[in-house]
Amino acid sequence: MKFAIPLPAVPALPVVGSELWFPVHRVYCIGRNYAEHAREMGHDPNREPPFFFQKNPDNLRADGLFPYPPQSDNVQFEIEMAVCLDRGGINISVADALAHVYGYAIALDMTRRDLQGEAKKLGRPWEVGKAFESSAPCGPVHRVSDVGHPARGEISLDQNGARRQTGNLSQMIWPVADQIAILSQYFELRAGDIILTGTPAGVGRVAVGDVLHCRISGLSDFDVRVA
Ligand code: MN
Repeated sequence: MKFAIPLPAVPALPVVGSELWFPVHRVYCIGRNYAEHAREMGHDPNREPPFFFQKNPDNLRADGLFPYPPQSDNVQFEIEMAVCLDRGGINISVADALAHVYGYAIALDMTRRDLQGEAKKLGRPWEVGKAFESSAPCGPVHRVSDVGHPARGEISLDQNGARRQTGNLSQMIWPVADQIAILSQYFELRAGDIILTGTPAGVGRVAVGDVLHCRISGLSDFDVRVA
């Protein structure tokens, strides 16, 4: 096959303890998956069915930099655990779901909150608020064979040395296995898909020069600098 233009690069994340890179197919994100964060955004955290949105695979950025994006005065951090799939499928059962996971990483669901808020108010799609360039800084992938399936342990973000977000993975309203199972009822999941599993309370806005120190118990720490 001969392509009309040069092939776009395959977005990929480095794998810890390996020369390998994890190639990314799609990026799914769950909304309001920690009760305290749902409350801080003005929503009822009762266990309503989860909802998902997507970022573009090439919105991922692995070099620890987040260039402040245009058209927003309120860009916010959301630390999330990323789940990286090495098998796909449809209608995957909860019991079988974790067998589809290759590894886990720390990710930031960076959000142009002003644009997202406007979209919500007008009933418009969220892409301008969520799926912009470099909107998903992401640390390296830790293989399940090295770290297992983190289901509890602290998830936290420090901004310039001050603690902003704290939670525990055990507080997810929909655990990882449920998210995979439910997503696979709506989409055909594929090897290379990544799921951002929601953020705990404490989201806040960033400024150029900020350093965001991201931590998930069991994974290596990940620093992101706002450039
Ligand atoms: Mn999020």
